[in-house]
Formats: sequence, C-alpha cells, structure tokens
Amino acid sequence: MADKFCCKCELSDERTQVVWGAGQKSADIMFIGEAPGAVEDMTGIPFVGRSGKLLREVMDDAGVDPQDVYITNIVKCRPPDNRTPTAREIRMCKRHLLEEIEYIDPRLIVFVGATSAHGATKIKINMEKDSGMIFQWNSRDCMVIYHPGWIIRALGVRKPILERQLKKIADITEFKRPRGLERWQ
Ligand code: URA
Repeated sequence: MADKFCCKCELSDERTQVVWGAGQKSADIMFIGEAPGAVEDMTGIPFVGRSGKLLREVMDDAGVDPQDVYITNIVKCRPPDNRTPTAREIRMCKRHLLEEIEYIDPRLIVFVGATSAHGATKIKINMEKDSGMIFQWNSRDCMVIYHPGWIIRALGVRKPILERQLKKIADITEFKRPRGLERWQ
C-alpha cells in the first residue's frame, strides 16, 4: 500500500515525504483529515502539528485513547502553503484511502472537517447541520467533526463544540476509560 515515491499528482513536486496513515491497525475509529501540514511533512506522521495536538488532547480528554485509533488524511502529501487540496489531488489519492479503510475496517469513520468528508463521500456537507451526526457511506458509519484548525482560530469559543463531538464518539464506540483512571503516558 505505502508507495513512498508516489508521483501521481503535482503535490509530489514540493513535499518532503509522503505522510501515510498511522496508528492502531485494529482500530475501531479511523480519523480522516485533510492533508499534512508543515510538521507532518517533516516528521512523516499525520496530525502531530498544532491542529493534531489539539485533536489528540480533546480525544484524550473525552476518553478516546489516541493510541487506540488510526489517523490518516485524504491526501498524503502537503499542499504548498497548506492550501486546500484540489478535487484532482483528492481523486488521485483516493485509491490509497479506500485501501486503508478496507485494511483497517473501522467501526466508525470520523472525517475531520468538511473537505475530507466531501472529498471521500461526495456528499454535500453543511457543517452546522451535519457535523456530529452519524451517516452512512459505503455501508459504513461515519461522522464529520469540526477541523481543529478552525477551532484554533477561536479556541475559547469553539473548543467545547469539538469536545462534545469527541464525547459522542467515545460514547458510541464505548472507548471510555475505567472510572478514576485519569491519564496514562
Ligand atoms: N495535520 C494533518 O495531518 N491533517 C490535517 O488535516 C491538519 C493537520
């Protein structure tokens, strides 16, 4: 699956490396973000920059152990200046995503932001109405949540929305930690 020399689209011109999905191969929950940013491009690991740290922190607080999930992006290479990936780039990369979904076979797919949700499913997404709701795509349960990058732009006001969405994910997948156990490293 992992083609580290993939040159199917123009994103290969400027990327440092292809950023493949990472995490638990038997994960119940698969998070699908938009595209690697600068830190991901340098490290080769998805969601480890500012947005990723926020997502993992909120996940952890909600009782979803970041070690128990699988995280990937709809495109695997960083778009220049972190622009939104184009429809063509998403199309060229989609085979990798579909293979990942088959391989991980998650109980729940969580799209992080509307770009990945629409890019994968082609369903028109209205974040205000649709985010946090379960919907079906390819016979799989899916949910779209707000992108942490959007949350960061108004942290104090918007963070509770993401927290509620992650709590819902924890509830429906029963990923709760035993009571009294706060955090582990
Ligand atoms: N980092 C990622 O890997 N994906 C995003 O969508 C944002 C930051």
